[in-house]
Amino acid sequence: MKPPADNLAHSNGNGRAFDVAKVRADFPILSTTVYGKPLVYLDNGATTQKPKAVIERIDRYYREENANIHRGVYRLSQVATEAYESARRTVQRFINAADEREVIFTRGTTEGINLVASSYGRATLKPGDEIVVSTLEHHSNIVPWQIAAEATGATIRVIPVNDDGELLLDEYAKLLTPRTKIVAVNHVSNALGTINEVRTISNLAHGVGAKVLVDGAQWVAHFKTDVREIGCDFYAFSGHKLFGPTGIGALWGRRGLLEAMPPFMGGGDMIESVTFEKTKYAQLPNKFEAGTPDIAGAVGLAAAIEYLNGIGFDAFHDHEQRLLNYATDQLRQVPGLRVIGVAKKKAGVVSFVLEDPPLSALDVGTKLDREGVAVRTGHHCCQPLMDRFKVPATVRASFALYNTVADVDALVAALKKIRARADAKPHAAVARGGDVQFAKASAPTPAAAADELADVFEMLGDRDARNEYVLDLAGKLPNQFDALKRLTSRVPGCMSEVYLVNRPAPGAGGVIEFAADANADIVRGLIAILQKLFSGQRASEVLAFDVEAFFRRIELDQFITTQRRNGLAGMVQRIKSFAADAAGRPVSR
Ligand code: PMP
Repeated sequence: MKPPADNLAHSNGNGRAFDVAKVRADFPILSTTVYGKPLVYLDNGATTQKPKAVIERIDRYYREENANIHRGVYRLSQVATEAYESARRTVQRFINAADEREVIFTRGTTEGINLVASSYGRATLKPGDEIVVSTLEHHSNIVPWQIAAEATGATIRVIPVNDDGELLLDEYAKLLTPRTKIVAVNHVSNALGTINEVRTISNLAHGVGAKVLVDGAQWVAHFKTDVREIGCDFYAFSGHKLFGPTGIGALWGRRGLLEAMPPFMGGGDMIESVTFEKTKYAQLPNKFEAGTPDIAGAVGLAAAIEYLNGIGFDAFHDHEQRLLNYATDQLRQVPGLRVIGVAKKKAGVVSFVLEDPPLSALDVGTKLDREGVAVRTGHHCCQPLMDRFKVPATVRASFALYNTVADVDALVAALKKIRARADAKPHAAVARGGDVQFAKASAPTPAAAADELADVFEMLGDRDARNEYVLDLAGKLPNQFDALKRLTSRVPGCMSEVYLVNRPAPGAGGVIEFAADANADIVRGLIAILQKLFSGQRASEVLAFDVEAFFRRIELDQFITTQRRNGLAGMVQRIKSFAADAAGRPVSR
């Protein structure tokens, strides 16, 4: 496929010119480097970068306009109040809401959905009622409904997807009954990019009298939003995915519904009068905005919307779609790459896995980072969806208006390099015939092993060298993934698949050994470190060893993310539980 000429100014056929180089110049972070390489930012689904217009607007607000709102009689407070309320009107126009009072400022999509689930959900749901969500939902559009269901006795029903990642609307229609009270779906799937038919979904739901919440987190930065055209009842989105600041978002709801709903939080600014006997709540929107809001955030969000309006959605829509098509096509040229989610209507998101032989999403993401390419790896807060596609995680590239063909080329070139290197690497010895190789002691005690490891880490010094060392250890760990997978269940808490078995060491009383393997190199390296510490050691010493202090000592946080730390904690927990059994004692952590 010939690369689209998007690095040059071009007309998109709608009459408005789109010049990606000019747009990029508005985003200071895009000209920074990572490991000496130009930043290729392809994680826009997680958050977008901020244009100067937003950064400078927030700066000006704090330099010249800051005061608390709605309360002060003085000039500055009026200026801040006007800036905040004007931001509300900007959001109102942006989503085509009928009334500015229907726009509630929130911390983001998550808070918007929680507000509706908690206030509307708990006030209206009864035992036997049903809430319909879809397989494509982000955890933030599942868990709040589970909490509401738990509190009220309602149940959750799920719209299935087909193999392309599209919602099965026929199946959805069958789920709808007079018991259905709420339907909650996303407008665009963050994990796959599928655009959902929210208008049809709303119409069908209204046919049985249900209310509809649309999670617009992944839509608003890419397409024009018109809540009245969609016909839903609530619409939630986040500012930070719309080139605005973090910590601010908006919930739109139909006025009649919002007026009837009880408050979500109590506090200042959401009341008309308070006595110890009775409190009268404020009118909309204040009823749902207890406490001092993120005033600068709202002002920054409005600046982001105005920035986008200045460019025009029509202007960059074609650019994003061309990038999506080009990226999908080019990625398919990477050996063993499988795209997950090929819906007919998609936003600029490509999720994929590398197979034959498999490379874990975690390793691919870590290696792409070394090439300056920022992508998302993991389950994307969509575990049920990952289960549906039988993958633990994917790599996700997500585009925004400032991305270019060169960004896609950098991603694809880096992936081809990673693939070629992995294929050339000799694999560690494979355990044969189901025999599992357990590690012997690396030192007389865990403390002595820890000293040896700490010496190596200290000598290596910087983050990169330590990372290399951990990967080197991974290369030496015997490859016994399949054998262990047959023997045991997955260690919980790990982003990648990890299997670990313990046993009492043959012959020596009170000594334990373990074997483990994972489908991510970095995790295999961590397994090797744990083996050096604990395998072949006395159960009582394993139990007494303060592993957290050791991790602090080797400054593990420098190169291990929190999520990987959870996985590490899961492994340690398994080893310590076994040691506790072997030593006949409760686990101390
Ligand atoms: N829904 C979807 C579809 C998302 O992509 C996200 C963010 N990844 C959220 C909800 C949650 O948004 P936030 O973290 O900004 O509240």
